[in-house]
Amino acid sequence: MSQKDVYTQLAERIFMPDSRLLPRLWRMIVDEEEARILLATPATAEALAQEFGLPLEEMEKKLAVLFRKGVLFKKDKSGGIVYRTCRDVAQFHDASILWPEAPKEYYDLWKRYMKEEWPDFARAISQVLPKPFTRVVPVEQPVEARNRILACEDVERILRDSGRVAVTKCTCRLIEGNCDKPVEVCLQVGKGADYAIERGSGREIDVEEAMRILRSCEEAGLVHVTMNRASDSHIICNCCGDCCMTFTLISKGISLCDPSRFLALVDPGKCSGCGTCLERCLFGAVSMAEHDDAEVSSVDAAKCMGCGLCQITCPEGAISMKAVREESFIPS
Ligand code: SF4
Ligand code: SF4
Ligand code: SF4
Repeated sequence: MSQKDVYTQLAERIFMPDSRLLPRLWRMIVDEEEARILLATPATAEALAQEFGLPLEEMEKKLAVLFRKGVLFKKDKSGGIVYRTCRDVAQFHDASILWPEAPKEYYDLWKRYMKEEWPDFARAISQVLPKPFTRVVPVEQPVEARNRILACEDVERILRDSGRVAVTKCTCRLIEGNCDKPVEVCLQVGKGADYAIERGSGREIDVEEAMRILRSCEEAGLVHVTMNRASDSHIICNCCGDCCMTFTLISKGISLCDPSRFLALVDPGKCSGCGTCLERCLFGAVSMAEHDDAEVSSVDAAKCMGCGLCQITCPEGAISMKAVREESFIPS
């Protein structure tokens, strides 16, 4: 079997059989023997050692290297620890970009992949997914309907309920570098934190530090995003409009992220027309419109993602966040 074959097979394993660039990315991060080991998963270390004719200790060392690179994951099952390679291209992206020894060429090739191949693939999966993978979480303070907010849309509750928190670098901004927003702000929670800490790709932090990071992200104009489910999320991302693998697709009509259940509403009687909200909105949802001979802010409900970034910086207190979607909007 030629080298090209194993790397193409790895691209097929993450549902990209026709990709030109993913086999090249795989070739940069694993040698041919490592590729064969990945292709032999899911399997235990014992089974892999036997298949490759290696002592168990030697195989475990190879698996540890692959785990550290972010291309191998482990799960504790009744028959022992089972190893598997990346589930899909998003996991390959998120985990392997934090490969500590990644050369610049690896980032450059990912950047090319995100430009040339990711949008078409994302469009295809967005058309078959019942719901987007991720969802915007509103900033904490502005939501007026506090009694109606759910645990899964309250960043502090997500952090406190998770048991463990770690912070890693934002992989989108690492490779794209299109903005100067903070990079070490991806919060891994629960199982996500366990993985990042064991792998060494993240550092453990307490909830107070995590909350400080979230506040600094809000000031910087980053939008909180979590997994689109009612419980057991593994991550709170803090996304920008220039680099994010999801938000940069919105203008192309591709939706991999749901809005929150909230919508920004402007009180035209209070608005001074300062334009701060126009600058803060990543989604082009705000425009200025005439109202009683004055120019005031107006929010397009179809574009508003319910992030709350405009509300917390409105100097006139003219913006409120209203729940406009049912609780059942969030998948269980
Ligand atoms: S999804 Fe958002 S926070 Fe996560 S890596 Fe991408 S831009 Fe960064
Ligand atoms: S930030 Fe507030 S006062 Fe300024 S334009 Fe927006 S709604 Fe009006
Ligand atoms: S108008 Fe823009 S900034 Fe304000 S909540 Fe909606 S998406 Fe966020």
